[in-house]
Amino acid sequence: MPTICREAAVNIGLRSNAFEMSAIARQNRGPIRMQMPDAGDEKGRELNEQTLSMRLERVAAHVPAGARLADIGSDHGYLPVALVRRGAIEMAVAGEVAMTPYRAAERTVSENDLQSRISVRLADGLAAIEAGDRITAISLCGMGGETIRNILDAGKARLNGEQRLILQPNGGEQPLRLWLMNNGYQMRCEELLRENRFDYEIIVAEFAGTVSYTPQELYFGPLLLQARSAAFLAKWQRRLGHKQRTLNSLRLASRPVPEDKVQDLAQQVRWITEMLA
Ligand code: SAM
Repeated sequence: MPTICREAAVNIGLRSNAFEMSAIARQNRGPIRMQMPDAGDEKGRELNEQTLSMRLERVAAHVPAGARLADIGSDHGYLPVALVRRGAIEMAVAGEVAMTPYRAAERTVSENDLQSRISVRLADGLAAIEAGDRITAISLCGMGGETIRNILDAGKARLNGEQRLILQPNGGEQPLRLWLMNNGYQMRCEELLRENRFDYEIIVAEFAGTVSYTPQELYFGPLLLQARSAAFLAKWQRRLGHKQRTLNSLRLASRPVPEDKVQDLAQQVRWITEMLA
Protein backbone atom coordinates (compact mmCIF):
# COMPACT_ATOMS: atom_id res chain seq x y z
CA MET A 1 0.00 0.00 0.00
CA PRO A 2 1.57 3.31 -0.96
CA THR A 3 2.04 6.18 1.42
CA ILE A 4 -0.36 8.60 -0.10
CA CYS A 5 -1.36 12.23 -0.07
CA ARG A 6 -4.99 12.63 0.77
CA GLU A 7 -5.73 15.04 -2.04
CA ALA A 8 -4.24 12.65 -4.54
CA ALA A 9 -5.98 9.44 -3.52
CA VAL A 10 -7.30 8.14 -6.77
CA ASN A 11 -9.24 5.36 -8.34
CA ILE A 12 -6.58 2.88 -9.37
CA GLY A 13 -8.02 -0.35 -8.14
CA LEU A 14 -6.47 0.28 -4.74
CA ARG A 15 -9.78 0.95 -3.06
CA SER A 16 -9.23 0.90 0.66
CA ASN A 17 -10.48 2.68 3.71
CA ALA A 18 -6.97 4.06 4.03
CA PHE A 19 -7.72 6.21 1.00
CA GLU A 20 -10.21 8.95 1.42
CA MET A 21 -12.19 8.29 -1.68
CA SER A 22 -14.23 11.42 -1.18
CA ALA A 23 -11.03 13.34 -1.85
CA ILE A 24 -10.23 11.47 -5.05
CA ALA A 25 -8.89 13.58 -7.87
CA ARG A 26 -11.49 13.94 -10.57
CA GLN A 27 -9.24 12.54 -13.22
CA ASN A 28 -8.14 8.96 -13.76
CA ARG A 29 -11.40 7.24 -13.25
CA GLY A 30 -11.30 3.79 -14.73
CA PRO A 31 -9.74 0.44 -14.04
CA ILE A 32 -6.25 1.42 -15.09
CA ARG A 33 -3.49 -0.14 -13.09
CA MET A 34 0.16 -0.87 -13.33
CA GLN A 35 2.98 -0.23 -15.75
CA MET A 36 6.64 -1.01 -15.93
CA PRO A 37 8.45 -0.49 -19.20
CA ASP A 38 8.49 -3.67 -21.22
CA ALA A 39 7.46 -5.78 -18.28
CA GLY A 40 4.48 -7.20 -16.49
CA ASP A 41 3.26 -6.17 -13.10
CA GLU A 42 3.41 -8.17 -9.90
CA LYS A 43 0.34 -10.12 -10.97
CA GLY A 44 1.80 -10.92 -14.38
CA ARG A 45 -0.43 -8.52 -16.28
CA GLU A 46 0.91 -6.92 -19.42
CA LEU A 47 1.56 -3.22 -18.91
CA ASN A 48 0.62 -0.65 -21.48
CA GLU A 49 -1.28 2.62 -21.95
CA GLN A 50 -4.41 0.95 -20.58
CA THR A 51 -2.88 -0.90 -17.69
CA LEU A 52 -0.36 1.31 -15.92
CA SER A 53 1.97 0.21 -13.16
CA MET A 54 1.00 1.30 -9.68
CA ARG A 55 4.03 3.61 -9.84
CA LEU A 56 2.82 5.44 -12.95
CA GLU A 57 -0.75 5.28 -11.69
CA ARG A 58 0.27 7.21 -8.61
CA VAL A 59 2.14 9.71 -10.76
CA ALA A 60 -1.01 10.09 -12.86
CA ALA A 61 -2.99 10.86 -9.73
CA HIS A 62 -0.97 14.02 -9.19
CA VAL A 63 -1.51 15.44 -12.66
CA PRO A 64 -4.21 18.07 -12.24
CA ALA A 65 -7.44 17.53 -14.13
CA GLY A 66 -7.36 19.37 -17.46
CA ALA A 67 -3.59 19.82 -17.35
CA ARG A 68 -1.38 20.50 -20.32
CA LEU A 69 1.29 17.93 -19.50
CA ALA A 70 4.90 17.62 -20.60
CA ASP A 71 6.05 14.07 -19.86
CA ILE A 72 9.81 14.20 -20.23
CA GLY A 73 11.57 10.87 -20.70
CA SER A 74 8.25 9.42 -21.75
CA ASP A 75 9.65 6.22 -23.26
CA HIS A 76 6.61 4.37 -24.67
CA GLY A 77 4.34 7.31 -23.85
CA TYR A 78 2.02 5.25 -21.67
CA LEU A 79 1.46 7.99 -19.09
CA PRO A 80 0.32 10.81 -21.42
CA VAL A 81 -1.66 8.40 -23.60
CA ALA A 82 -3.44 6.90 -20.59
CA LEU A 83 -4.31 10.36 -19.26
CA VAL A 84 -5.63 11.65 -22.59
CA ARG A 85 -7.58 8.42 -23.17
CA ARG A 86 -9.27 8.93 -19.81
CA GLY A 87 -10.13 12.52 -20.59
CA ALA A 88 -8.04 13.53 -17.60
CA ILE A 89 -5.85 16.09 -19.37
CA GLU A 90 -6.25 18.51 -22.24
CA MET A 91 -3.09 17.74 -24.18
CA ALA A 92 0.42 16.44 -23.72
CA VAL A 93 3.93 16.64 -25.02
CA ALA A 94 5.89 13.40 -24.79
CA GLY A 95 9.62 14.22 -24.82
CA GLU A 96 12.29 11.64 -25.51
CA VAL A 97 16.00 11.99 -26.01
CA ALA A 98 16.58 8.53 -27.48
CA MET A 99 15.36 7.31 -30.85
CA THR A 100 14.00 3.89 -29.88
CA PRO A 101 11.72 5.12 -27.06
CA TYR A 102 10.80 8.16 -29.18
CA ARG A 103 9.55 5.80 -31.90
CA ALA A 104 7.77 3.69 -29.28
CA ALA A 105 5.95 6.79 -28.01
CA GLU A 106 5.01 7.77 -31.56
CA ARG A 107 3.62 4.29 -32.10
CA THR A 108 1.55 4.36 -28.89
CA VAL A 109 0.14 7.76 -29.80
CA SER A 110 -0.75 6.79 -33.36
CA GLU A 111 -2.21 3.42 -32.35
CA ASN A 112 -4.54 5.36 -30.08
CA ASP A 113 -5.22 7.94 -32.78
CA LEU A 114 -4.17 10.77 -30.48
CA GLN A 115 -1.79 12.70 -32.74
CA SER A 116 -3.98 15.80 -32.43
CA ARG A 117 -3.69 15.77 -28.63
CA ILE A 118 -0.18 14.47 -27.98
CA SER A 119 3.00 15.77 -29.62
CA VAL A 120 5.90 13.37 -29.47
CA ARG A 121 9.20 15.22 -29.67
CA LEU A 122 12.78 14.05 -29.92
CA ALA A 123 14.52 16.46 -27.57
CA ASP A 124 16.87 16.65 -24.62
CA GLY A 125 14.97 17.31 -21.39
CA LEU A 126 12.78 20.40 -21.18
CA ALA A 127 13.85 21.43 -24.70
CA ALA A 128 10.80 19.39 -25.74
CA ILE A 129 8.60 22.19 -24.36
CA GLU A 130 7.69 25.04 -26.71
CA ALA A 131 6.27 28.37 -25.52
CA GLY A 132 3.02 27.83 -27.40
CA ASP A 133 2.36 24.57 -25.51
CA ARG A 134 1.28 26.50 -22.39
CA ILE A 135 2.37 23.54 -20.25
CA THR A 136 0.88 23.46 -16.74
CA ALA A 137 2.42 20.24 -15.40
CA ILE A 138 5.70 18.47 -16.02
CA SER A 139 6.37 14.83 -15.18
CA LEU A 140 9.84 13.30 -15.02
CA CYS A 141 9.68 9.67 -14.00
CA GLY A 142 11.79 6.56 -13.91
CA MET A 143 15.15 8.32 -14.04
CA GLY A 144 17.77 8.86 -11.36
CA GLY A 145 17.22 11.85 -9.10
CA GLU A 146 20.45 13.46 -10.31
CA THR A 147 19.34 13.07 -13.92
CA ILE A 148 16.00 14.71 -13.13
CA ARG A 149 17.81 17.48 -11.28
CA ASN A 150 20.15 18.03 -14.23
CA ILE A 151 17.24 18.14 -16.67
CA LEU A 152 15.42 20.71 -14.52
CA ASP A 153 18.56 22.77 -14.09
CA ALA A 154 19.45 22.77 -17.79
CA GLY A 155 15.86 23.66 -18.70
CA LYS A 156 15.26 26.38 -16.10
CA ALA A 157 14.37 28.86 -18.85
CA ARG A 158 11.31 26.73 -19.65
CA LEU A 159 10.07 26.69 -16.05
CA ASN A 160 7.69 29.59 -15.50
CA GLY A 161 6.87 29.02 -11.83
CA GLU A 162 3.30 28.03 -12.67
CA GLN A 163 3.87 24.41 -13.62
CA ARG A 164 3.43 21.60 -11.15
CA LEU A 165 6.39 19.23 -11.13
CA ILE A 166 5.57 15.57 -10.63
CA LEU A 167 8.80 13.70 -10.12
CA GLN A 168 9.46 10.02 -9.60
CA PRO A 169 13.18 9.55 -9.12
CA ASN A 170 14.74 6.11 -8.98
CA GLY A 171 17.15 6.97 -6.16
CA GLY A 172 18.96 10.29 -5.77
CA GLU A 173 16.00 11.89 -4.00
CA GLN A 174 18.20 13.98 -1.70
CA PRO A 175 20.06 15.93 -4.43
CA LEU A 176 16.79 16.38 -6.27
CA ARG A 177 15.10 17.84 -3.18
CA LEU A 178 18.11 20.07 -2.62
CA TRP A 179 17.72 21.47 -6.15
CA LEU A 180 14.01 22.02 -5.57
CA MET A 181 14.68 23.92 -2.33
CA ASN A 182 17.48 25.99 -3.86
CA ASN A 183 15.19 26.94 -6.71
CA GLY A 184 12.20 27.91 -4.57
CA TYR A 185 10.08 24.78 -5.05
CA GLN A 186 8.03 23.57 -2.13
CA MET A 187 7.25 19.88 -1.70
CA ARG A 188 3.46 19.80 -1.86
CA CYS A 189 3.04 16.07 -1.66
CA GLU A 190 5.26 13.05 -1.30
CA GLU A 191 4.38 9.42 -1.71
CA LEU A 192 6.21 6.20 -1.12
CA LEU A 193 5.15 2.97 -2.71
CA ARG A 194 6.63 -0.46 -3.11
CA GLU A 195 6.21 -2.37 -6.33
CA ASN A 196 8.11 -5.34 -7.71
CA ARG A 197 10.27 -5.14 -4.56
CA PHE A 198 11.38 -1.59 -5.33
CA ASP A 199 10.64 1.43 -3.18
CA TYR A 200 9.53 4.38 -5.29
CA GLU A 201 9.13 7.95 -4.14
CA ILE A 202 6.96 10.48 -5.89
CA ILE A 203 7.63 14.14 -5.21
CA VAL A 204 5.11 16.79 -6.21
CA ALA A 205 6.56 20.29 -6.09
CA GLU A 206 5.35 23.77 -6.91
CA PHE A 207 7.17 27.08 -7.01
CA ALA A 208 6.72 29.00 -3.76
CA GLY A 209 9.55 31.55 -3.66
CA THR A 210 11.74 30.96 -0.65
CA VAL A 211 11.59 27.58 1.03
CA SER A 212 13.78 25.99 3.63
CA TYR A 213 14.25 22.37 4.68
CA THR A 214 16.61 20.76 7.16
CA PRO A 215 19.25 18.30 5.90
CA GLN A 216 17.20 15.45 7.37
CA GLU A 217 14.07 16.66 5.60
CA LEU A 218 15.96 16.70 2.32
CA TYR A 219 17.20 13.20 3.01
CA PHE A 220 13.94 11.55 4.09
CA GLY A 221 11.45 13.88 2.44
CA PRO A 222 9.79 16.53 4.63
CA LEU A 223 6.26 15.21 4.21
CA LEU A 224 7.21 11.54 4.34
CA LEU A 225 9.16 12.25 7.51
CA GLN A 226 6.17 14.00 9.03
CA ALA A 227 3.72 11.23 8.09
CA ARG A 228 5.98 8.34 9.19
CA SER A 229 3.82 5.75 7.46
CA ALA A 230 4.36 2.02 7.90
CA ALA A 231 5.77 1.81 4.35
CA PHE A 232 8.21 4.63 5.10
CA LEU A 233 9.42 3.05 8.35
CA ALA A 234 9.79 -0.36 6.68
CA LYS A 235 11.82 1.16 3.84
CA TRP A 236 14.22 2.87 6.20
CA GLN A 237 14.49 -0.19 8.41
CA ARG A 238 15.65 -2.14 5.35
CA ARG A 239 18.00 0.65 4.31
CA LEU A 240 19.47 0.88 7.79
CA GLY A 241 20.48 -2.79 7.79
CA HIS A 242 22.06 -2.43 4.38
CA LYS A 243 23.93 0.76 5.24
CA GLN A 244 25.18 -0.65 8.54
CA ARG A 245 26.60 -3.67 6.74
CA THR A 246 28.27 -1.43 4.14
CA LEU A 247 29.70 0.81 6.85
CA ASN A 248 31.12 -2.16 8.74
CA SER A 249 32.75 -3.54 5.62
CA LEU A 250 34.22 -0.11 4.77
CA ARG A 251 35.69 0.13 8.26
CA LEU A 252 37.20 -3.34 7.93
CA ALA A 253 38.43 -2.84 4.37
CA SER A 254 42.05 -3.75 3.80
CA ARG A 255 42.48 -0.89 1.32
CA PRO A 256 42.05 2.69 2.59
CA VAL A 257 38.60 4.15 1.93
CA PRO A 258 38.14 7.94 1.56
CA GLU A 259 37.28 9.28 5.01
CA ASP A 260 34.53 11.57 3.70
CA LYS A 261 32.75 8.55 2.22
CA VAL A 262 32.85 6.74 5.57
CA GLN A 263 31.71 9.87 7.41
CA ASP A 264 28.84 10.42 5.01
CA LEU A 265 27.63 6.86 5.44
CA ALA A 266 28.06 7.06 9.22
CA GLN A 267 25.92 10.19 9.26
CA GLN A 268 23.21 8.46 7.24
CA VAL A 269 23.22 5.54 9.68
CA ARG A 270 22.94 8.03 12.56
CA TRP A 271 20.05 9.91 10.97
CA ILE A 272 18.13 6.73 10.15
CA THR A 273 18.72 5.28 13.63
CA GLU A 274 17.52 8.51 15.27
CA MET A 275 14.52 8.73 12.99
CA LEU A 276 13.46 5.13 13.72
CA ALA A 277 14.03 5.42 17.48
N1 SAM B 1 8.93 7.88 -17.78
C1 SAM B 1 8.77 6.48 -18.11
C2 SAM B 1 8.42 5.69 -16.88
O1 SAM B 1 8.58 6.21 -15.79
O2 SAM B 1 8.01 4.54 -17.02
C3 SAM B 1 10.03 5.93 -18.76
C4 SAM B 1 11.21 5.79 -17.85
S1 SAM B 1 12.62 5.25 -18.72
C5 SAM B 1 13.40 4.23 -17.55
C6 SAM B 1 13.61 6.73 -18.76
C7 SAM B 1 13.50 7.41 -20.11
O3 SAM B 1 14.04 8.71 -19.97
C8 SAM B 1 14.28 6.72 -21.20
O4 SAM B 1 13.42 6.41 -22.26
C9 SAM B 1 15.33 7.74 -21.61
O5 SAM B 1 15.61 7.73 -22.98
C10 SAM B 1 14.68 9.04 -21.18
N2 SAM B 1 15.61 10.14 -20.92
C11 SAM B 1 16.76 10.11 -20.19
N3 SAM B 1 17.34 11.32 -20.20
C12 SAM B 1 16.55 12.13 -20.92
C13 SAM B 1 16.62 13.50 -21.30
N4 SAM B 1 17.65 14.25 -20.94
N5 SAM B 1 15.62 14.01 -22.04
C14 SAM B 1 14.58 13.24 -22.43
N6 SAM B 1 14.46 11.94 -22.12
C15 SAM B 1 15.44 11.39 -21.38
